Amino acid sequence: MTDSSFKLHPFEGGLRLAANTSISTSTPVGQVPLPARLVVPIHQHIGEPATPLVNPGDHVLKGQRIARAEGFVSVPVHAPSSGTVIEIADHPVPHPSGLSAECIVIDTDGNDECIEHTQDILPYAELDPSHLRNIVRDAGIVGLGGAGFPSFIKMNPGPASHVKMLIVNGAECEPYISCDNMLMRERPDEIIAGIPILLHALQAERCIIGIEDNKPEAIKALTGALELHKNAPIEVVVLPTLYPTGGERQLIYLLTGLEVPSQGLPADIGVVCHNPGTVAAIYRALIMHEPLISRIVTVTGKGVANPGNHEVLIGTPMSDVIKHCGGYADQADRLIMGGPMMGFALSTDAMPVIKTTNCLLVSTPDELPLPKTPLPCIRCGECQTVCPAKLLPQQLYWYAHAQDFDKIQEYDLFDCIECGCCAYVCPSHLPLVHYYRYAKTEIWTRERERIRSDVARERFEFRAERLEHDKQERAERLRNRKKALKEPAARGEDPEKAAIQAALDRVEAKKKQAPRTDSVD
Ligand code: SF4
Ligand code: SF4
Repeated sequence: MTDSSFKLHPFEGGLRLAANTSISTSTPVGQVPLPARLVVPIHQHIGEPATPLVNPGDHVLKGQRIARAEGFVSVPVHAPSSGTVIEIADHPVPHPSGLSAECIVIDTDGNDECIEHTQDILPYAELDPSHLRNIVRDAGIVGLGGAGFPSFIKMNPGPASHVKMLIVNGAECEPYISCDNMLMRERPDEIIAGIPILLHALQAERCIIGIEDNKPEAIKALTGALELHKNAPIEVVVLPTLYPTGGERQLIYLLTGLEVPSQGLPADIGVVCHNPGTVAAIYRALIMHEPLISRIVTVTGKGVANPGNHEVLIGTPMSDVIKHCGGYADQADRLIMGGPMMGFALSTDAMPVIKTTNCLLVSTPDELPLPKTPLPCIRCGECQTVCPAKLLPQQLYWYAHAQDFDKIQEYDLFDCIECGCCAYVCPSHLPLVHYYRYAKTEIWTRERERIRSDVARERFEFRAERLEHDKQERAERLRNRKKALKEPAARGEDPEKAAIQAALDRVEAKKKQAPRTDSVD
């Protein structure tokens, strides 16, 4: 049901931005055709890259696991369609670093032939939560909101946390992006059917679906789907439209009044958040045995001829997606993955759609002007007023600029959600978020190097200790041998004969100790 009397706790800061989503929501979700070639990166999630399980020349089926998870924070990768693996090599991938990464390239055969499932589909309520998590991990599901965190980890809050509430984050507050909106409008049943699975996995008591009030069709669709589940502990709560309500911490505060501790997790306060796309993917994995091999992508902006939302196979070249949407308009100037606030510009469309590609925004110069030349900070404080994380963005900027990475952490750099509100209002056009990302990357790199050098130092110390121990043992043995030679001489005996006799005595003693091996039959 929809609860209009639900008590909300507005967070500080934020911006009212034009949604610009109507251009991509006027037509139903389409389907981008099967491309001739799929380029599937093995690293589409936060954590360790998966390890390829196939070789060039192998024939693969749709849904077949082609790379296995490596380590705990990792998920496998599956073939989005049937075909032949032609190479495993580095290709450009959508990442802010602009670097290439290892991909499994499949020439599709056009048959779209699925792998056969041999396991029975069991009722999820009869499964242990750990079994559910394994299914979700094996299906390669990650957060589809943009971060790509493996979902099975979020389903395992640990023995110390008791999760009371599941929040489905339907806020989708970033301008231009409408894939969650369209999913909620067109497939509300999948979301509603996925929620009880997550409630069971988390052993949580209730679920709230939070949706901004600028998505009336989605609110209506989910409320309608809930009619069939009257006794389910699920509520749709309508939220005021404000950027960044979709930020996990901001949404949790808005709905519960509880603050996630600095550098803590929502599970620490008994809450877990999932994106509606992730919930639907979990439903499809559990009920239909489908791994994550496609997603809805918003293709939008004045720079594309026919904006819309489309189901796209993972690995489909972005150029194919844009082509399916009528191609580029004459004024097209930038291709951005994500929205204008948190997305990043891509240097080419010869990159594949990955699990976290929620939006391809093709902008024109009048739509999203290029960044202006930065000027010195005038200490106006505007950035602080809009910061939804209650940070001091200008101080963060100073310390990032000065590369004072100890000080910047004292100012809670890692609580920054990189929403871009501060940079949006900065009259000096300072690229504040770039500085924060740079500082975070530097700190992570230094931390990794510190851990590596700590491990190397420990190894070195252990080896030095072992060598010293061996040296002392050798010296001790030598001392004993010398002593053994000196003692007979002191008694007036021939040391050589005495040594031989001692060796013979040792052999005799050993013989006496040895067990009998002769048969007694
Ligand atoms: S908004 Fe820009 S100019 Fe104003 S205090 Fe913040 S960083 Fe400085
Ligand atoms: S990017 Fe970070 S510092 Fe800037 S407003 Fe958002 S949370 Fe605050």
